[in-house]
Amino acid sequence: MNKQFPLTGISSVAIHAAGKDNADYAHLTPIYATSTFTFDSAQEGSDRFAGADKTKIYSRWGNPTFTTAEETIAALEAFGLSNPDGSQLQLKALLHSSGQAAMTTLFLSTLKAGDTILSHFSLYGGTHELLLKVLAQTGIKTTLIDMHDLNLVEDALKKDPSIKLVHIETPANPTIQCVDIEEITLLAKQHRALVSVDNTFATPYLQQPFQYGVDFVFHSTTKFLNGHGTAIGGVLLGKDLDFMRTTVWKWHALLGGNSNPFDAFLLTQGMKTLELRMERHCHNAMEVAEFLANHPAIAHVNYNGLSSHPDHAVSMKQMRHPGALMSYELKGGLDAGKRFIDALQMCVRAVSLGTVDTLLSHPASMSHFGLKQEERIKFGITDGLIRMSVGIENIADILNDLEQALQKV
Ligand SMILES: *Cc1c(COP(=O)(O)O)cnc(C)c1O
Repeated sequence: MNKQFPLTGISSVAIHAAGKDNADYAHLTPIYATSTFTFDSAQEGSDRFAGADKTKIYSRWGNPTFTTAEETIAALEAFGLSNPDGSQLQLKALLHSSGQAAMTTLFLSTLKAGDTILSHFSLYGGTHELLLKVLAQTGIKTTLIDMHDLNLVEDALKKDPSIKLVHIETPANPTIQCVDIEEITLLAKQHRALVSVDNTFATPYLQQPFQYGVDFVFHSTTKFLNGHGTAIGGVLLGKDLDFMRTTVWKWHALLGGNSNPFDAFLLTQGMKTLELRMERHCHNAMEVAEFLANHPAIAHVNYNGLSSHPDHAVSMKQMRHPGALMSYELKGGLDAGKRFIDALQMCVRAVSLGTVDTLLSHPASMSHFGLKQEERIKFGITDGLIRMSVGIENIADILNDLEQALQKV
């Protein structure tokens, strides 16, 4: 398959990059529901243990159904990118049972007690807790700063030589903040720190952080890569192939956060339509943002596609389209937020994001209900804030549903 002419479009890559060579000529990579793999002889067993390909030994170590998903994601993140010598960039992906498992592998395989992670304030809730509550207990420290200010990034790197990894998430919850991947990576490299990017909100269709020289990209595949909300999953990609195959693979295999064949199969099918879905998601999101920005019941819209968003310019620099996530503030506060959410008829009340259907949540009454109001507001979660992942339904139906619900607040 790879001997073919080079594929020039990302949908072709998503559909054809991987999964072509299975022994039984199945059109799709089968769901290899097996915990272990057989050896024809002792010699063959020892060859497989000694080889670079550890996918046909034991499924915690790897499995051909995972490989198809991994090679597809690696091809998407590397699509059109070259190494400094002009050769095509190669990446290694490791599929995990969840985004959180992939992130645990990332942090534990690259850092040790005494090292520090430099990151920013608006992080996914699970990442924030993993860093500050769980990793803190292992002696791996975290410093959070505002990375919009590159001087703060430079100061932090200069003052603290224990910073070994700079972890950025862009765009990020809930106000869709974006930071400059290229500039932050340049600073990190001057101070010999590794850089990892949580690319979950963007997907490789909208943003390819390896273009800027980052070391790792992370995805919760639960979101847009799967696209249909059928499975939890995560992936970690790296460009240092030896390091990925040895150290990172070892931590991944020993921590035990492996995927499973059924979820990997669902992910592979979902990714085939990534470009089509993202085009529609983003087109719909822009229309929704403009509709809401002009609506009398709405105080404010946070969408990086609007020129009023503080990070509009940086997101336009590094993203193909602004994405499908937004949040907005209802003028009527907490009660209006609840009434609005309750009045929705087609759009779905749920946390998570990146599914074909439009999902809305009201963080103040749902995901962040347990926090005190002052604490919530520090994270940007005001009383009337609604978080919305715009789906691929017909735009008129999304707008009609929002309009009828806004009339009831
Ligand atoms: C969902 C999500 C995660 C965590 O992934 P899981 O698959 O839920 O473990 C991490 N980062 C971002 C940005 C996410 O949206």
